[in-house]
Amino acid sequence: MTKERLDIHGPRCGWRPQAEDRRECTPSCGTAWNTFRTRGVCPGCGVKWPGTQCLECQRFSPHEAWYHYPRDVEENGIGREEGLTQRA
Ligand SMILES: [Zn+2]
Ligand SMILES: [Zn+2]
Repeated sequence: MTKERLDIHGPRCGWRPQAEDRRECTPSCGTAWNTFRTRGVCPGCGVKWPGTQCLECQRFSPHEAWYHYPRDVEENGIGREEGLTQRA
C-alpha cells in the first residue's frame, strides 16, 4: 500500500496506456515490451528511451512526463485556488 498513487497517462491528451500495450525497440534490437513497466528502458538492449509516443494521439512526450504524482497537483495549488476565489 502506498499513500501516493502514481498515475500514468499521456501528458497531452490524458490517454492511459494499457498493461498489454507494447512498444518496439527499433531499429536497435526489436524487443517488444511495456515501456511503463521499466520506465522507458528496453529490457533487450538496455537503452533508455527519452521520449514515449502516445498510441492514441501519436505525439511524442518525454517519458517522465507520463508519470503524474498527486503531490505535484497539491503543491501547485490547482483546484484549491479556484475554490477560495468562489468563496470570496
Ligand atoms: Zn532494445
Ligand atoms: Zn495522446
